[in-house]
Amino acid sequence: MRVTRVSISLEKRANDGDYGSEKSEVELFADLEPGDEPHTVLDWMMATARMQVEHDLLQSPNLKVRQALIRKVRRCNRCSEPLADDDNGYLHPACRDAEDAEREERYQAAKRRNDEQERQQDERELVIARDGDDDDEDLPL
Ligand SMILES: [Zn+2]
Repeated sequence: MRVTRVSISLEKRANDGDYGSEKSEVELFADLEPGDEPHTVLDWMMATARMQVEHDLLQSPNLKVRQALIRKVRRCNRCSEPLADDDNGYLHPACRDAEDAEREERYQAAKRRNDEQERQQDERELVIARDGDDDDEDLPL
């Protein structure tokens, strides 16, 4: 079997924020020549149709319609690179691991500081206790 004709249809409707909407619709048909790859032709047709409907709606005098065309790219909170659609969180998995490692490092550093302060405090108390003994010995009878 040889595919000889392909078509695509794309419709985009954008709410105008005032009980109405604007719509752009594109329908494309192509007759394939021998050697044409249907998928390649369809990809091109869909990209063309998408460009056209977006172009149409971006010409709207209505701000809401134009805003509906803005593609919101979700970005990683750590590296600001775009997130894949199947990344559900706010970070790339590698960035999440890095954040976890940094949090753990901060925790360990705080723990070391705290341990050091407790050790110094214990030493001071030991010195005071020892000085106290000395003072007792120095007391005149
Ligand atoms: Zn990232």
